[in-house]
Amino acid sequence: MRLGIAVDSRLCMACYSCFTACKDEHCGYASALSAAQPMMGQHWIDVREWERGDNSRRIKTATVPVLCSHCQDPACMKAAKNGAVYKRPDGIVIIDPEKSKGQKEIQEACPIGAIFWNEELEIPQKCTMCAELLDDPDYLSYLGDPKLKKPRCVEACPNHALIFGDLDDPDSEINKVIASNRITQLEALEGKETNVVHLNIPTVFLAGTVYYPMADEEVCIGANVKVTCPETKESWTTETNDFGDWEIEWLPKNKNMDIEITFDGYEPISYKACTDTDHYVGMAYLTKA
Ligand code: SF4
Ligand code: SF4
Repeated sequence: MRLGIAVDSRLCMACYSCFTACKDEHCGYASALSAAQPMMGQHWIDVREWERGDNSRRIKTATVPVLCSHCQDPACMKAAKNGAVYKRPDGIVIIDPEKSKGQKEIQEACPIGAIFWNEELEIPQKCTMCAELLDDPDYLSYLGDPKLKKPRCVEACPNHALIFGDLDDPDSEINKVIASNRITQLEALEGKETNVVHLNIPTVFLAGTVYYPMADEEVCIGANVKVTCPETKESWTTETNDFGDWEIEWLPKNKNMDIEITFDGYEPISYKACTDTDHYVGMAYLTKA
């Protein structure tokens, strides 16, 4: 058994229910697996949000809940002395609250900032995947079924953005969700095997609007838009919608792109753009062929 959580950024609506449930569970409650989480200064699940887009015509937000990824080969475990960080047989990575005393290097080793330093106790602390609850035979989950026990953040998520389960079971819901979505690991953990699997973290979009010739003052619906990367020869296509807008998501980062807009009876329009960040490339006015 290898327990994990799939985190789907596309479904996260930044409601902070997971954050609140984590606080409810761990603040003021210590176990053999962790000292109590302080009320302030620690967020074992951190809902990270940022604004996307470089123009007020197309602004979006991205939301990524970040918690300890429970790495298969944890950097924090390598940095620890005296076995202060260990991996359980179910894959959950635990910082021993007693053995880790004074070991700030454990906190510093985590590449995603998932460990917090408790100044008062002088220990590093992080998400336990609620292992203390999963181990507790008296904890039945809010559904009253021991087989449905989940970490508190997963239980609290109203939008199914967090899925918990056994990554070793090919028929588990978590594996089905991972298989049917885009795996987008956190950049700092790129290439590493982790038991928390991030899905659908956005990359870069290009967007624009197409109009008929300026005098017509009308948007063009159904214009063809093709974005091509000359370096990799990949291309992506879409059409303008009822507002004349187009948008292509999930583009590879830091590539120069050629954009071509075509519509029957009108001259093609060409642009160039770089996917260094999200761009609204502008308004394009067609001219009669
Ligand atoms: S995400 Fe950070 S704290 Fe969690 S196991 Fe990996 S290195 Fe350790
Ligand atoms: S509870 Fe779910 S939807 Fe709300 S912030 Fe957390 S992950 Fe996102």
